[in-house]
Amino acid sequence: MSKSAELELAQLKTAIHYLAGLLEEGSLVSRYDTATREELALVLELLVEKVSGLPEGVPEHLVRAAAVRAIIEASEKFTKAQKLAREESLQRHMREMEAAASIQGHTLGPWEQVSAYDMEYQATCQDCGGFVYVSHNSTYNLLGEECKRV
Ligand SMILES: [Zn+2]
Repeated sequence: MSKSAELELAQLKTAIHYLAGLLEEGSLVSRYDTATREELALVLELLVEKVSGLPEGVPEHLVRAAAVRAIIEASEKFTKAQKLAREESLQRHMREMEAAASIQGHTLGPWEQVSAYDMEYQATCQDCGGFVYVSHNSTYNLLGEECKRV
């Protein structure tokens, strides 16, 4: 006696949603890095969605194509989300450095992009020539304790 395809799909969906949830939450596979877990979870959710949307009787290669599309779509979504997070972090670092510079009496000029890197910026004090550097994951403050005009 075999299960109906509908029942099998319903069970598969339940299992995959659960697996995606476990991956996202991370307690079961904590050694996997967060980014990998989140992206895998997203692939699984998209896969369920895409397979559910397939019409009846589609050839097997189109079912496989749904898997490929799920991976690509998850990757694009994830890259976008990461980029946004990096930009927010970069902006926060700039505001922090501006505040620190201002407290020490420096007058920072405009932020300039460090050549060849897209998310690294540097600003120079107009008065003493000291500078600060920021990226999405680091900040360097090479200003003096107080501003000394040269
Ligand atoms: Zn200065």
